Amino acid sequence: MTLQQTIAEYLKYTGQKGLDISAALIDCDGVLYDSMKYHTQAWVKLMKKNGIKCTRDEFYELEGMTGSEIIKMKFKTGAGKNITDDEARALYGVKTRYFRELGEAPVMPGAVRVLEALKEAGVDRILVTGSQQDTILERIEKDFTGLFGEIKVTGHDVRKGKPNPEPYLKGMAKADKKPHQCIVIENAPLGCQAGHAAGCFTIGVTTGPIPEKDLLKAGADLVYKNMDELAAALPALLVALSIVKA
Ligand code: MG
Repeated sequence: MTLQQTIAEYLKYTGQKGLDISAALIDCDGVLYDSMKYHTQAWVKLMKKNGIKCTRDEFYELEGMTGSEIIKMKFKTGAGKNITDDEARALYGVKTRYFRELGEAPVMPGAVRVLEALKEAGVDRILVTGSQQDTILERIEKDFTGLFGEIKVTGHDVRKGKPNPEPYLKGMAKADKKPHQCIVIENAPLGCQAGHAAGCFTIGVTTGPIPEKDLLKAGADLVYKNMDELAAALPALLVALSIVKA
């Protein structure tokens, strides 16, 4: 499919009259940081310690749900246990500790370039993450200095994780934007589903083991191999995405 066809398709299924992109809603793990390999490892360790069988691949698929949602689901299906909110919070604390013990996840190659290209094009950059880890949020200030504005959505702001559109709807509301003014940048299938459900033009990046076709199936309008490829494509893409249909 050509870019023009992809855009025409988006306009058709959303019923939008056009696109006029002025904000990018940007996911964190697997987009800004190459952190998913550490998260999946920490999740498997937590589950195994609690006698729950699982593989790392499962946690790539679950990326985007809140920590508490993942814990409740896995303990129910894997051990037949109903976990309370307090128990889920405590278990998430243990998972966070395992994650930290693995060391600092590197900044995703190309992520700074993507943010710079958006800034250059006058597109607002808004962080939308389910993460509740304040250390990551502080790192963003340091690793992406001057590239994000004040507006952000974190795990502290949302009740429902992805694939629910709530995180992206909240990002748009905070930034006073409509779906046709926003692109979503996501690496996870559930994240693409959330961006799509929020009505935004959703861009997937295959920075992990999940293939392009799965992101497209989840609702991504376009998929790039990595953040560098997206950064290179962005200037022309943003021009193409600013069309008002007569
Ligand atoms: Mg992600």
